[in-house]
Amino acid sequence: MTTLFYIISLKIFLLFQIMAENLHRVVENPKILALDDARYIAGKFDPAQNPEFISFNSDSSNKLMHLRTEVYIAYLKMAQAAEADSVKLTIVSATRNFDYQKELWENKWIGKTAVDGKKLHLHIKDPQARALKIMEYSAPPGFSRHHWGTDIDINSTESEYFETPEGKKVYQWLFNNANKFGFCQTYTAFGEKRSSGFHEERWHWSYLPTAKIIWEAQLRNFDESKIFKFKGYQAIRSLHLIEFIRSVNNCIQ
Ligand SMILES: [Zn+2]
Repeated sequence: MTTLFYIISLKIFLLFQIMAENLHRVVENPKILALDDARYIAGKFDPAQNPEFISFNSDSSNKLMHLRTEVYIAYLKMAQAAEADSVKLTIVSATRNFDYQKELWENKWIGKTAVDGKKLHLHIKDPQARALKIMEYSAPPGFSRHHWGTDIDINSTESEYFETPEGKKVYQWLFNNANKFGFCQTYTAFGEKRSSGFHEERWHWSYLPTAKIIWEAQLRNFDESKIFKFKGYQAIRSLHLIEFIRSVNNCIQ
């Protein structure tokens, strides 16, 4: 009887200890960030370590990609529906955190990656003009929607691809159907609805049920004085970055 009592007490004790530990983990776990957390919005986290993200392989790369789980599930449903219509979708870029975007940006800034076939550090000396040139298609680190795990680039990031018969077919399918799965083309052509900001990107699709919440928090909390540093960050201060962020298509009819 005493032994049984002892075993039960021990089990209860262990159970409480496990509960306390888990509670502690949830409170202390820095990997889970709220959607309106400034670090989340600026991509200052590791998506591979974030339990709200899922890792997956894509045909376009031998590196693992990451997306928020609900976004990847929605994408899979969309890709399956596309396949049924003989349209092949492939993710070519998913989550890019701050460090990843910083490398992309800085490579363009220092001329390691050519922009329109030119090394910008030699070609455009004025820092603001250089930043604006990069910002035709690339967001500065801390301000890319790719930080959020809600946005994907599909099939190619070259405008020319979307002029080919295959590219036209893919775009037409996305234009007609992506909305049904929660996806929206963020950067549409300049016109009545969108007159400034990043140029048209037929490849960039955003999962709005989550992205819109993050975007609204980003606009609400926008503070240019709190930019995380990278090469050329001083130059973007006077470029009305908030207009680039605001100027997106939200697929509202
Ligand atoms: Zn993109």
